[in-house]
Amino acid sequence: MIKKAEPFWLDKPLKELNSKEWESICDGCAKCCTLKLEDMDDGNIYDTNVVCRFLDIERCQCGCYQERSINVPDCITLTNENLASINFMPPSCSYRLLLAGKPLPKWHHLICGDYEQIHAEGKSVQGKVISETEADDLEYHLTGEIIN
Ligand code: SF4
Ligand code: SF4
Repeated sequence: MIKKAEPFWLDKPLKELNSKEWESICDGCAKCCTLKLEDMDDGNIYDTNVVCRFLDIERCQCGCYQERSINVPDCITLTNENLASINFMPPSCSYRLLLAGKPLPKWHHLICGDYEQIHAEGKSVQGKVISETEADDLEYHLTGEIIN
């Protein structure tokens, strides 16, 4: 009997993924591109419906991916080494899910084979956000969601 091979994200830990595999884990939600406010008293991080000026809101894609950390110093390049210590990634982030030993959702492109499914199911920021170039003070844009 031939045993079916496990997909790569189940077959090896995050630290063993090559760069192409690592990049493919991203579901394209762009939730990490929303601006967030941290309460200095309790450390909570509150999400807003405002996104980075470089995000293509329609496609949920970064407009300067290769230079993102230069253009936006707060834009952290996610790695296996810093993943566990970053506290502003959304709970639905695929990297967080895999790190916690949880499965990827059915709408993830690696599962369903369709990069648009995440948007069709309303799991990305598509249609829910505005650019920081058009926003008021962030306090007026809180979504009520606490990230951590
Ligand atoms: S939150 Fe995670 S899965 Fe979503 S776009 Fe950012 S890195 Fe990718
Ligand atoms: S620079 Fe790109 S990846 Fe970074 S927050 Fe802005 S849109 Fe998102």
